[in-house]
Amino acid sequence: MLDFVNTGVFAGANRESDILRSPEVFLAWAREADLAHGDTDTASDRPSAMSRARRLRAALRAIAEALAAGREPDARALTTLTSAAAVALRSATCRMDGAGLTWSWNTATVDGVLARIAVSAVDLMRGELVDRIGICPGCGFLLLDTTKNRTRRWCTMEDCGTQEKMRRYVARRAAARRQ
Ligand SMILES: [Zn+2]
Repeated sequence: MLDFVNTGVFAGANRESDILRSPEVFLAWAREADLAHGDTDTASDRPSAMSRARRLRAALRAIAEALAAGREPDARALTTLTSAAAVALRSATCRMDGAGLTWSWNTATVDGVLARIAVSAVDLMRGELVDRIGICPGCGFLLLDTTKNRTRRWCTMEDCGTQEKMRRYVARRAAARRQ
């Protein structure tokens, strides 16, 4: 779910590189992200599937940001998530997985993948890990801090963490020179 939301950070204002630019691109991404398996069947999707995908992504971002900041999420974003989760459960199959039950969807379609994302988002954001959701101060990615002492700040130390250290180092050098 966080990976899906983070694709919006990559895309920014550039619709051409967005994974939500077409059902085919989105489903190819979902396979790579291990959210979908097997064949694709975009013909079975409702025409509104991609605009619902964009709405869901924006809503999840808004809700996660609010929760990370300890704020009440926006009511419209919650409504979007509620209806996505309701649609998701209508199309789900409940089956045995290990010792318990799990929902499963036909992930050949955009709607099936969105259903999976919506329900896993609800599971994450009402679960024990909710206070582990954070935002990388370097790039704005959502992240899940699963370290024991809650020390994770950056999406990756190699990218954002190193860049930030470099930026501080340059700033310190510049300040030292001025003195
Ligand atoms: Zn980052």
